[in-house]
Amino acid sequence: MAVPKRKTSPSRRGMRRSHDALSVEAFQECPNCGELKRPHNLCTACGHYNGREIVSVEG
Ligand SMILES: [Zn+2]
Repeated sequence: MAVPKRKTSPSRRGMRRSHDALSVEAFQECPNCGELKRPHNLCTACGHYNGREIVSVEG
């Protein structure tokens, strides 16, 4: 079995993990109801997209 020759130092491990952070998800306010929604996605609160209702939301 292939085995690493050297233990990964804390510095190396930190350098590798410098790219592991999750970025904040993009969001914007729905122009219809003001609820936060993802860009280019149907608003889950009111069912509107691009100024018109695509899916009717009960209640
Ligand atoms: Zn909305």
